[in-house]
Amino acid sequence: MFDSGPSKNSRPARRFRPARKHRRRGGRLVVILALVFMFGVGYSLLGLVQEGIAAPMGASTPAAEWSGFSHSYTIGSPAKEDEASTGQKTKEQTRKPPGAATTCDDVNVLVDRSHSLPSDYVPTDLVSLQDYRVPTLGSEVLRREAAEHLGRLVEGVTKVGEELVVASAYRSYEEQQLSHDRLMSVFGVGADSMSATPGHSQHQLGTAVDFTNGAAGYQVWAPFAQTSAYWWLEHHAWEYGFVLAYPRGKEEQTGYQWEPWHYRYVGVEDAKRLDKSNSSLQGFLERARTMPHC
Ligand SMILES: [Zn+2]
Repeated sequence: MFDSGPSKNSRPARRFRPARKHRRRGGRLVVILALVFMFGVGYSLLGLVQEGIAAPMGASTPAAEWSGFSHSYTIGSPAKEDEASTGQKTKEQTRKPPGAATTCDDVNVLVDRSHSLPSDYVPTDLVSLQDYRVPTLGSEVLRREAAEHLGRLVEGVTKVGEELVVASAYRSYEEQQLSHDRLMSVFGVGADSMSATPGHSQHQLGTAVDFTNGAAGYQVWAPFAQTSAYWWLEHHAWEYGFVLAYPRGKEEQTGYQWEPWHYRYVGVEDAKRLDKSNSSLQGFLERARTMPHC
């Protein structure tokens, strides 16, 4: 349909060329008539093209074919081209998996070696852990929802005669920088597997805590794993929405050494799912695709 256009147009133009040489007045008239004719044919051809486009725009048309036609379509109707573009955008949006990007305030946001928080990200709902009767070594703060659940967790562990103390909770980007620099000065590049670089720490989220207790000498270190309070955490932390973020045997997945003291709040439902699975928090969040987007 579209290919027949140029040959139809060229035929009348060749026919009128000799007439213009010998009879000027009549020639002018013929040229005008020819122009009117050409305009008419061109216009009707354009109409046919437009009709031709209307059909491929149906739902069954492959995308490559559709976009080829839409380019011709701009000649006749820019307004409809805009409509077509909008339709294409909508298709792209619906193709995105749900939860592909999330805000940093989402308790399930993935923060690891590859996914970082902006240096100026600070949670807006930080509260003092002392207000939730959580024993701390300093004046620690956490996001409200995590603090509420941590208060209940401490109540639970105290009921069975165990002790848990929070040595570290929310850390700002700058505090993480200082902490990382200190470790770097002692351990060199080896510090990278012990401490997250600034922006990559779950502590900046305001939902992660480091536990210790008297049996561990109130230190943040491996002997904490030998205490009965740690055993209790292994079995009950999920009931309060907390999970061990860097477990033993999952170092390759998480990129960090086993940290028996480091727990992160993700909400009770997801903590329960994680407890029943063999996955690490890392793998779980990667599958959920909750990348930081803030
Ligand atoms: Zn920690």
